[in-house]
Parts: sequence; C-alpha cells; structure tokens
Amino acid sequence: MIAYAERFVPENDNEAEPPRQDHHDIQSLPLDLQLQGTVDFGASSAAMAARDFGGMQSVSPLAVIRPMGVDDVARLVKAVLCSGDLTVAARGNGHSINGQAMSDQGLVVDMRTAEADRFQILAEGPNGIGYAVVPGGALWEDVLRVCLSYGYAPRSYTDYLSLTVGGTLSNAGVSGQAFRYGPQTSNVTELEVVTGNGDIVLCSERENSELFFAALGGLGQFGIITRAKIPLQPAPDMVKYTLCSYVCAPP
Ligand SMILES: Cc1cc2nc3c(=O)[nH]c(=O)nc-3n(C[C@H](O)[C@H](O)[C@H](O)COP(=O)(O)OP(=O)(O)OC[C@H]3O[C@@H](n4cnc5c(N)ncnc54)[C@H](O)[C@@H]3O)c2cc1C
Repeated sequence: MIAYAERFVPENDNEAEPPRQDHHDIQSLPLDLQLQGTVDFGASSAAMAARDFGGMQSVSPLAVIRPMGVDDVARLVKAVLCSGDLTVAARGNGHSINGQAMSDQGLVVDMRTAEADRFQILAEGPNGIGYAVVPGGALWEDVLRVCLSYGYAPRSYTDYLSLTVGGTLSNAGVSGQAFRYGPQTSNVTELEVVTGNGDIVLCSERENSELFFAALGGLGQFGIITRAKIPLQPAPDMVKYTLCSYVCAPP
C-alpha cells in the first residue's frame, strides 16, 4: 500500500506558510473594548497566534488581546457578541496541535497575561486540606512551584508542565498521576468562567454544574476559564522516578 501525507509539515517556522495579511480592519468593527489590558496588532503577536504547536494550521488573527483580568475578558466577550460574526478564541500556552486555540480573522485572548501570577493557597475544613486558587492563564510549572513552597502539590498534573491551567482543563490533563487520581478535569472543585454572553459565573459540581462539566474538557467552546480551585495534598519529601532509555544494551 502506498501512503501519502495530505499536508506538507514544515520542519521549522521559516518554511511554514506566512499568515495572510488581509481582510478585516478592527477599526471598522463596531467594538467598544475599553480594556485595562492591551489590543495588539503587531506582527510578532499575530505570528505567535497565527500558528499552532503542530505547525500544520496557519490562520490570520485580527488581533491578540492581553486582558488584565476577568473583567477585561468579560468585556471583550460582550463586545464580540455584539459585533456580529467576529470570533474569539482563548489561548493558553498554544501547545494544542490542531488549531484549537486559533481564530481566523478573529480575536485571540492571550490568557497567559490575565493575572497569571496571582495565586491563593487556602486551608479549609477541619483537616486543613489545601486548595490552590489559580488563574486560568497560569502555567502548571508555576502552580507547582508556588504549591511546593507551602509544602503542598496538586494531586494530578501533566508530565510536561509548560501548559496552562485553562488549556489542560479544557482538554483533560493527564500524567503519571492520572492512573491513581484521575485526569486534571477530575481534580478541580470550582471554576470561574466567562460565558459566551460575557457573564462571570462561578460553577462547581453543585453550583451551575452544567457549565462546570461543559467547560471541563470543552476546548474553550463553553466559556473561558479565568480561575480554578484545585485540591492539594502534602507534597512528598522525595520522589522516585525512572528515566526511560530507548537504547537496548545486549544482556
Ligand atoms: C510538548 C507537549 C507536551 C504535552 N504534554 C502533555 C501532558 O503531559 N499531559 C497532557 O495531558 N497533555 C499534554 N500535552 C497536550 C496539552 O495538554 C494540550 O494540548 C493542552 O490543551 C495545551 O495547553 P495550552 O495551555 O498550551 O492550551 P492551548 O493550546 O493554548 O489551548 C488548548 C485549548 O484550550 C482552550 N483554552 C485555552 N485556555 C483556555 C481557558 N483559559 N479557558 C477556556 N479554554 C481555554 C483553547 O481555546 C484551545 O481550545 C502536551 C502537548 C505538547 C505540545
């Protein structure tokens, strides 16, 4: 059987098709953003949001929005809703490989900037069980680092940690801990979500549960996760891990 690749996969960014530079002009759109954050039309931002990690998808975003916080995200979604056919996509750390965090001729919300460094570590209940309340744009490596400084760790994280909380909760989030604790989507107790109407809604298994379960694994289609409450457990003093080698030595 003869197989062929339907798409040309560029080996590096220089070989990839450049993003198109045409279509909409944001000035002509009926948008009243009034954001605390920034709206970036620059070529480097557009290039960042124009291609995904797999290098196979390439689009031309209109602008990259860098919100300052949840109010900015809500204001943006409301403005987009009133604008007609404009689309908006949340982008975490852009590590999805099939264009999930992209928007052709639309707005890309760079969630990494939305209060990405604001963390709360909470102790609740008689046993003082810890929770981390973290922004959707936070990287798991930062979440883990902050939690460890309190002697805690999330129960379930990803093996590769340069992914955002919102990005992996919108997928599943699996790692070596998943066989014991389940994926990250089973290890979050509450979300703050900006819905498609631009409302800021707190949801959990008990409160607004439909939104909660839709947002988890929802690839950003049911709202933008701006905050998540993640149960913690005491971090072990030591961990054991095995490095896999693909070089087989003769017995
Ligand atoms: C090198 C590499 C290593 C990886 N390792 C692992 C691993 O160990 N475990 C694992 O489970 N997965 C792994 N993945 C897959 C990765 O978890 C998913 O692709 C994940 O969605 C990427 O997260 P991100 O922050 O880059 O999100 P993005 O790629 O930016 O976005 C992914 C999706 O989530 C949506 N989204 C992003 N932020 C939000 C938000 N705040 N609210 C709502 N929706 C949002 C986007 O619109 C998009 O649909 C890996 C991928 C790569 C490339």
